[in-house]
Amino acid sequence: MQIPGHIDPVPVPRAITPRADGRVDLLGLSREQIGAELEAQTLEPKQAKLRAKQLFHWLYHRGETDFARMTDLAKPMRGWMAERFVVGRPDVVEAQVSSDGTRKWLLRSDDGQDYEMVFIPDADRGTLCVSSQVGCTLNCRFCHTGTMRLVRNLTPGEIVGQVMLARDALGEWPKGNMAADASAGADDEDDDAPQYTPDGRMLTNIVMMGMGEPLYNFDNVRDALKVVMDGGGLALSKRRITLSTSGVVPMMKRAAEEIGVNLAVSLHAVTKEVRDEIVPINRKYGIEELLQACADYPKANNARRITFEYVMLKDKNDSDADARELVRLIRQYKLPAKVNLIPFNPWPGAIYDCSTPERVKRFSEIIFESGISAPVRTPRGRDIAAACGQLKTQAQKMSRAELDRLAEEKQAALG
Ligand code: SAH
Ligand code: SF4
Repeated sequence: MQIPGHIDPVPVPRAITPRADGRVDLLGLSREQIGAELEAQTLEPKQAKLRAKQLFHWLYHRGETDFARMTDLAKPMRGWMAERFVVGRPDVVEAQVSSDGTRKWLLRSDDGQDYEMVFIPDADRGTLCVSSQVGCTLNCRFCHTGTMRLVRNLTPGEIVGQVMLARDALGEWPKGNMAADASAGADDEDDDAPQYTPDGRMLTNIVMMGMGEPLYNFDNVRDALKVVMDGGGLALSKRRITLSTSGVVPMMKRAAEEIGVNLAVSLHAVTKEVRDEIVPINRKYGIEELLQACADYPKANNARRITFEYVMLKDKNDSDADARELVRLIRQYKLPAKVNLIPFNPWPGAIYDCSTPERVKRFSEIIFESGISAPVRTPRGRDIAAACGQLKTQAQKMSRAELDRLAEEKQAALG
């Protein structure tokens, strides 16, 4: 069944643009995959395994991109690696800083696709908002990204690459050895530097809330997050990572089992009529099914509370009755939940208005009075269009058909 505003996640052929110099980019690969690449270059399996472990550490724990500086590799080995491999980063097309300190980067892939990432500094944490796709196949009516056509899924390298690039930009790669990092880091901290965490890191949390529906790019998102969570590399705890979905019910169980991070669900409405309109995937997976999947999620992986995201749209989903119904639903499904109220962030051409501050306050109070936490999220980075739902790049100019044609042409050219 074809639902207006909803397109199934047709895998868009990724024009994997081979590097002109024939070298392989290791960014985003797991230890095992790095090992396999080394073996493919005729290294003995045992050697490959050992070198892969060293490379993994250099890549993801130290942020090193230059083989020449990987000092625990013998010099000839460093040269051998540099002839065959690179450690890439996404290209930065533009970097912007908001008056509130939020930063947004416009990134470009090898095959010329643009996507965005956003860093949001707070008093007690620093959150990187990561994209999973270029554009989105879903068309939530209040979301700017939803007006783009999907260009393609991001690869694990492009997803992990966002985290790596943020670390580069924040100057956060540890310089000492691994075990000593936490304590040594604290000593050489500049006294005036903002202290976000006990170990002085600015990037403490990741949210899969940038462009795209992460559960429509499941394998790549899973593989990328596994690299990000690996204790021998970036080592971000699963408790500090949140994946947000608009409600791809059939993938939620697998997300619990195979990824295991915190879950946020873009609920945004409590009746079929309104959710069908503003989150069209609801026509395929309805509210009851979605809430049942939410009830099953923590059981599958011991996750903590689920966050329900709720965008406040004037006269659309913001009445007292809506707030009460939301409480009723959360209770009915016995959900360990909190609600995040997001004031609607406007964008050119949007057909909705943000609820009034008084309305948002009352809505929040009704939920709080029932014993469920419902903070109002302060919009961040609105002045640089970095706030929730404002991300959109020029990539929408190419349709899927145009892109397929381009991919075919490229393939043909490669012979
Ligand atoms: N595709 C995923 C994750 C990305 S969107 C999802 O939909 O969950 C991150 C959050 O921002 C979602 O809850 C989304 O619904 C919300 N959002 C989208 N457009 C918005 C807007 N204009 N104002 C406020 N929040 C918005
Ligand atoms: Fe896609 Fe999420 Fe935007 Fe909906 S809100 S269009 S799922 S990015």
